[in-house]
Amino acid sequence: MARALLMAVLAATAIACNSNFVRAQTVQAPTFATSGNADFDGWRDDFAARAVAQGRDPAVLRRLLSGISPDPSIVTLDQQQPEFVSPVWDYVNNRVTDRRIAAGQAMKASMGSTLTQIQQRYGVDADIVLGIWALESNLGQAPLNYTAPEALATLAYEGRRRAQFENYLLALCQMVERGLATPDELRSSWAGAMGQPQFMPDVYLTLAVDWDGDGKRDIWTNNADVAASIANYLQNKGWRAGEPVFDEVRLPTGFDFSLADGSTRSVSDWEGLGVRRVDGGAWSVTDRTLQSQLFLPAGANGPALLLHPNFAVIRRYNNSDRYALVVALLARAFEGRGGLVASWPTQVGSLNRDQTLELQTLLNSLGYNSGTPDGLFGSGTRRAVRAFQTDQHLAADGFPTADLLNQVRARAGVSVDPPASSSSEGPRALDARGVRELQRLLKRMGYRLGAADGSIGPATRTAIRSFQRRRHMDVTGRATSDVLEQARRAAR
Ligand code: CA
Repeated sequence: MARALLMAVLAATAIACNSNFVRAQTVQAPTFATSGNADFDGWRDDFAARAVAQGRDPAVLRRLLSGISPDPSIVTLDQQQPEFVSPVWDYVNNRVTDRRIAAGQAMKASMGSTLTQIQQRYGVDADIVLGIWALESNLGQAPLNYTAPEALATLAYEGRRRAQFENYLLALCQMVERGLATPDELRSSWAGAMGQPQFMPDVYLTLAVDWDGDGKRDIWTNNADVAASIANYLQNKGWRAGEPVFDEVRLPTGFDFSLADGSTRSVSDWEGLGVRRVDGGAWSVTDRTLQSQLFLPAGANGPALLLHPNFAVIRRYNNSDRYALVVALLARAFEGRGGLVASWPTQVGSLNRDQTLELQTLLNSLGYNSGTPDGLFGSGTRRAVRAFQTDQHLAADGFPTADLLNQVRARAGVSVDPPASSSSEGPRALDARGVRELQRLLKRMGYRLGAADGSIGPATRTAIRSFQRRRHMDVTGRATSDVLEQARRAAR
């Protein structure tokens, strides 16, 4: 028996040593059973052939891509746009919670000296690492409902960002080829972000860390590997050891709010402009030449923060001011320090997506370029708001409020609540059924509005105004019989 086995092994070795055979094996693209979707199979087979030509292992490709079909729930999530962008204070308060603070402190205690060693090795505050970990995966408690091969293959096949997602798949293949992770470990978000730090495969390959030295970079179940990987990421993106993230400040009376436009000045220069720590105490930074920027997350009436360079490093993890702010606030809380001193100006209200769309459209019509209206408040819209505020002698904080929208409406000659048409002369106001028909026609013509529900919200008003402008009608934003008539003609 043993002899027969030995002969078989020798025979196999002899075959494997035949160089022609080896070459034939390595260039052979893997074959797959059909997924039931011929289009997907076509992409998958083509991708696998190209991957093998680039040196990827056919056996690994087969293991990763066998039994996979495109997941429609992933495509839906990818195409979904948030209907509502929550106010910054809700975003912060929903994430900096007592429960999460307690969980972070418990994790800190349970990891003990390992976390300290990781902090020493990478020069990144352990509390910042914990803050990111808490936001990305609730310190490993958040379920990862997808697998990276399926998520990445679905998004590559979908095609909107095919090259990008094919590259992720190639990196995923290398992770397995190098033995850093096994195919059954690759749990991810719907977007293919893996494990507790939510790394994409290319980031994993370059920055994930095997802290405990078992040969695997286990960002799914090994807390030390997770924490070290996040710390290594921040160090790689330029984290400055020992420096704080921000100082909360108070501004002098008559302060020029347009200085909070993202431009940087030294801490000394800010001090020269009358900016002080909110508690009147000493700066958290020792180096007064540090280039910092003033940030008003909720405009002139809310907290004011002097952001030091490490704030921008957190944004390299997730490119969002509010994300970086929450990480920094969680880190403070884990250390046992308090939150912001100033309170959020919840009374000013914040704009939803429809209102932001209306604001952008109106600002554009007034000559303040806010870019293509999309309902999302970005830097272009902020600049346009600031320019409008400056011209109107308002505090130029670039922050959108309900009051600001009303001022813009007034300048644009748009009444906030158009009076119902009671006159028998002129166009007749539509009833709900007429409004619904108009909404359906506008949607068919590509105007952006929500459900055709027969009620007139800001999005419908904005769409009507755009339509009226295009048809050279009076721009009233009102749903009237003449608008419906024009829409019927235009949609024909
Ligand atoms: Ca490990």
